[in-house]
Amino acid sequence: MPQTQTASIQNTEIDRPQCPDCQAAMWLACVSRDGVGKEYRKFECPVCEVSTRRANEIAGPTIQF
Ligand SMILES: [Zn+2]
Repeated sequence: MPQTQTASIQNTEIDRPQCPDCQAAMWLACVSRDGVGKEYRKFECPVCEVSTRRANEIAGPTIQF
Protein backbone atom coordinates (compact mmCIF):
# COMPACT_ATOMS: atom_id res chain seq x y z
CA MET A 1 0.00 0.00 0.00
CA PRO A 2 2.63 2.64 0.94
CA GLN A 3 4.68 1.75 -2.11
CA THR A 4 4.81 4.27 -4.90
CA GLN A 5 6.00 3.41 -8.38
CA THR A 6 6.44 6.87 -9.80
CA ALA A 7 9.94 6.18 -11.10
CA SER A 8 9.07 2.98 -12.94
CA ILE A 9 5.95 4.55 -14.43
CA GLN A 10 8.04 7.39 -15.82
CA ASN A 11 10.48 4.88 -17.28
CA THR A 12 7.79 3.06 -19.20
CA GLU A 13 6.09 6.25 -20.34
CA ILE A 14 9.33 7.56 -21.83
CA ASP A 15 8.83 5.51 -24.98
CA ARG A 16 5.38 6.89 -25.66
CA PRO A 17 5.37 10.58 -26.48
CA GLN A 18 2.24 12.65 -26.18
CA CYS A 19 0.46 13.91 -29.23
CA PRO A 20 1.33 17.59 -29.76
CA ASP A 21 -2.27 18.30 -30.77
CA CYS A 22 -4.52 16.39 -28.38
CA GLN A 23 -2.05 15.19 -25.69
CA ALA A 24 -3.10 11.56 -26.08
CA ALA A 25 -0.44 8.91 -25.57
CA MET A 26 0.87 7.94 -28.97
CA TRP A 27 1.42 4.33 -29.90
CA LEU A 28 4.39 2.76 -31.58
CA ALA A 29 3.56 2.14 -35.23
CA CYS A 30 6.86 0.74 -36.48
CA VAL A 31 10.55 0.48 -35.72
CA SER A 32 13.38 0.47 -38.20
CA ARG A 33 17.14 0.47 -37.87
CA ASP A 34 19.71 2.02 -40.15
CA GLY A 35 22.46 -0.42 -39.21
CA VAL A 36 24.83 2.19 -37.79
CA GLY A 37 23.57 2.38 -34.25
CA LYS A 38 20.34 4.27 -34.66
CA GLU A 39 16.81 3.10 -34.34
CA TYR A 40 13.88 5.03 -35.76
CA ARG A 41 10.52 4.73 -34.09
CA LYS A 42 7.37 5.94 -35.73
CA PHE A 43 4.60 6.94 -33.35
CA GLU A 44 1.00 7.58 -34.28
CA CYS A 45 -1.76 9.30 -32.38
CA PRO A 46 -4.82 7.02 -32.09
CA VAL A 47 -7.11 10.05 -31.92
CA CYS A 48 -6.08 12.46 -34.67
CA GLU A 49 -3.63 10.25 -36.60
CA VAL A 50 -0.71 12.60 -36.33
CA SER A 51 2.54 10.71 -36.73
CA THR A 52 6.03 11.51 -35.58
CA ARG A 53 9.39 9.83 -35.86
CA ARG A 54 12.09 9.63 -33.24
CA ALA A 55 15.66 8.50 -33.57
CA ASN A 56 17.19 6.62 -30.68
CA GLU A 57 20.76 5.59 -30.20
CA ILE A 58 20.96 1.88 -29.64
CA ALA A 59 23.72 -0.15 -28.11
CA GLY A 60 26.32 -1.25 -30.59
CA PRO A 61 29.36 -0.10 -32.47
CA THR A 62 29.49 3.61 -33.17
CA ILE A 63 30.47 4.61 -36.66
CA GLN A 64 31.65 8.14 -37.33
CA PHE A 65 30.72 9.78 -40.58
ZN1 LIG B 1 -3.65 13.50 -31.33
